[in-house]
Amino acid sequence: MITLALSKGRIFEETLPLLAKAGIVPLEEPEKSRKLIIATNRPDVRIIIVRATDVPTYVQHGAADLGVAGKDVLIEHSGAGLYQPIDLNIAKCRLCVAVKEGFDYQTAVKHGARLRVATKYVESAREHFARRGVHVDLIKLYGSMELAPLVGLADAIVDLVSTGATLKANKLVEVEDICEISSRLVVNQAALKMKYETLQPIIDVFAQAVEA
Ligand code: ATP
Ligand code: MG
Repeated sequence: MITLALSKGRIFEETLPLLAKAGIVPLEEPEKSRKLIIATNRPDVRIIIVRATDVPTYVQHGAADLGVAGKDVLIEHSGAGLYQPIDLNIAKCRLCVAVKEGFDYQTAVKHGARLRVATKYVESAREHFARRGVHVDLIKLYGSMELAPLVGLADAIVDLVSTGATLKANKLVEVEDICEISSRLVVNQAALKMKYETLQPIIDVFAQAVEA
């Protein structure tokens, strides 16, 4: 049995066409069904539905043989024990620094002020500000980062942005790009050895589909 870990929403939706090319079709939609284990047309392949941030954990421990995880999640997780053969070029966005409209970020940074930064991406943020030589107090949040500068919890946030509509709706502006984000295929290294004959063809089809 091959177990593939996916998160609901954009990762599931954007992985579907790649799975189809490998001849794998889920028999249920996670948005409609409450099931966390979804069978596919292939009796030897099943999909488990987990939180986006939990995908590397399931794969690392071998509870899933492979999965799809955002680079944002992989940076925070460290990715130890995970083989990351392919950038799938899906769920694309970027990690950036944003502040409230009217907050003079460049001046604050130049004057060496200690910046309060709220984020779910503590590791990425720590690395970014260290590289920039900016002193920060990081405040860990688990969602709705946009709110933090509006209610005085933080001066800035580090968050994922694609269109910028959410920032705009909350009167925030992007002041710095940190990195481009897309999702990668992650594979358990031991599983790849043990189940090479079933796993490698799936990896190959994904790789071809991405190149095409
Ligand atoms: P949860 O909602 O369970 O807290 P999450 O918000 O990280 O987790 P998703 O919103 O499904 O889950 O995001 C999954 C992945 O998709 C992220 O890890 C990231 O790589 C990518 N992603 C997040 N936001 C966007 C976006 N606005 N546009 C494109 N890709 C995104
Ligand atoms: Mg989300």
